Amino acid sequence: MRIHALQTGTAELKQAFLHPRRGLAGRLGLLLPGAWVPSVPIHAWLIEHEGRRILVDTGETATVKDLPFARYNVAAGDELPHALAQVGASADDLDTVVVTHLHSDHADGAVHVNAPVLVSEAEWRAANSLVGRAAQRVSRAPLPTQVDFRPIALDDGPFGTFAANRRLTDDGRVRAVFTPGHTPGHISIIVIDDDGHHVLLGGDATDSLEQLHSRRPDAVAPNPRLHVETIDRILAHGRQNPTVYLPSHDRQSVARLEARTLL
Ligand SMILES: [Zn+2]
Repeated sequence: MRIHALQTGTAELKQAFLHPRRGLAGRLGLLLPGAWVPSVPIHAWLIEHEGRRILVDTGETATVKDLPFARYNVAAGDELPHALAQVGASADDLDTVVVTHLHSDHADGAVHVNAPVLVSEAEWRAANSLVGRAAQRVSRAPLPTQVDFRPIALDDGPFGTFAANRRLTDDGRVRAVFTPGHTPGHISIIVIDDDGHHVLLGGDATDSLEQLHSRRPDAVAPNPRLHVETIDRILAHGRQNPTVYLPSHDRQSVARLEARTLL
């Protein structure tokens, strides 16, 4: 079992996005002029396990448009094929591809993938709802076309502190767990490494470890209470299992992966 960190460029985020005020003021802060924080990585992850290659998230592409609260630095040479080449892999030899959610910085890179791209049923429904489609139009971030998205049910019951999960390998060492909040159908991937660590590839369950410990819902969560419930499940999972928590945009995620730093 090996877990490789991939990176497809960086993003700059507004302070008001990472530390939003509560309620309407928090939403307005996203749109008004304000301070920006230093750039954060846009990570994806490649798992190699018993001859199989499992890609978690697909990263961003150079065509991405900036948002009022996020500016992207992604060149064509940062996109998924190049990120995979850096760890000796290619987009043509992936066995399983799964995205944590359907925001562009996790799903746009799917244009480079020939395999089906797994996404939770709840996320697929939300992204194709009227509200979801309107949000994609406003943010100029349509779902990538010509991608074979395959909605999956998380129907293998609870896992750890999570209410629903789906095995992605027969031996259950790679699983998708339901972590709604940032988006309605967000999932995280738990990888049980050779030493029994639960490496939790968190997507945007939170932007950082600090946000997790602060139990702070993020600025775009449609349901902040649900987001905090998910944060509490992750924290509880970390108390019950040796968990390494790796959000996609945390500058310290790679160091924590290498050192297997526990929650
Ligand atoms: Zn993201």
